[in-house]
Amino acid sequence: MNDSHSLELFDVSKRYGTHIALDGVSLEVPQGSIFGLLGPNGAGKTTLIRMVAGITGPDQGSISYFGQPMSSEHVSSLGYLPEERGLYKNMRVGEQAMYFARLRGMGKKEAERELVDWFDRLEVNGWWDKEVADLSKGMAQKIQFIVAVLHKPKFLILDEPLSGFDPINASRIRAEINRLRDEFGTTILLSTHDMSSVDELCDHVALINNGKKILEGPVSSLREKARAGRIELKFRGNLIGFTAALGAGAVLHEASSLGDNMHDVVLGLPPSIPIEKFLKWATSEVDVLSCTPKSVSMDEVFLHAVQAVSNTVSS
Ligand code: ATP
Repeated sequence: MNDSHSLELFDVSKRYGTHIALDGVSLEVPQGSIFGLLGPNGAGKTTLIRMVAGITGPDQGSISYFGQPMSSEHVSSLGYLPEERGLYKNMRVGEQAMYFARLRGMGKKEAERELVDWFDRLEVNGWWDKEVADLSKGMAQKIQFIVAVLHKPKFLILDEPLSGFDPINASRIRAEINRLRDEFGTTILLSTHDMSSVDELCDHVALINNGKKILEGPVSSLREKARAGRIELKFRGNLIGFTAALGAGAVLHEASSLGDNMHDVVLGLPPSIPIEKFLKWATSEVDVLSCTPKSVSMDEVFLHAVQAVSNTVSS
């Protein structure tokens, strides 16, 4: 067990009848990280989250929370936004938010103060006396988000926190998720299909596929690995002459014309050629306009990893 991790899973498995939903998954969620749990539909993300939230137990393996075996007290202290949204339809918004705050052990004054602050932040001030049944999906989701974070949990689980939000509200919620980490040091475990939010939010990710973890690590190093030495070079000059001069030193992956004898190429450099050395050579051949490491989105990282696993299985 490691104190610098908020959560650790050791060889966790879960079976539903004959179906293995999670198959020997181990994970380490660093303290103060925003940790993205990614994977195709049915991969096992919600099963894993429900285990951490104490809704279901593992058939095998164990979970540790801030260096201790996870207990029911730990479970009741964390913040949890479940995938299936559930507010009591026949209650008013303010009444319900207060009810959940008190369940989390907050005093009345403290709960009121925090609720006023959060209602202000998420611009839902006028909703206190609204009936829950009258809320739209996105509106109800804002209230559930507030209820999950109100008691300032040190560990927060968000299952698909951005589904159902329009772009403006999704961006507002993303900003709040970042603020919780930056201002309060909250560790956040979130599952999502939205890769743009992974690019914007997560510093660590794990990718689950068919109940197995197939990738885990800091986003920056996973991107760097997937980049595999590729660089993007823009230059003015003769493309054919330039690619011939490349010889066996670099591989041309893509080339497009920018017009006016300018070109945009993606090249794969072998590890033995540092980008600075290549740039020195390229500058002697053509008029280099820019040279940058090829940017790799988390979408690409995700697709490559899933494809690599299916190729291994089918070969
Ligand atoms: P999605 O992205 O679609 O929400 P997920 O990664 O969250 O998917 P899970 O909900 O964890 O996936 O489901 C993993 C597998 O376990 C699926 O095949 C699902 O059908 C199965 N499963 C999940 N919960 C149960 C249950 N209560 N009973 C039977 N099977 C279940």
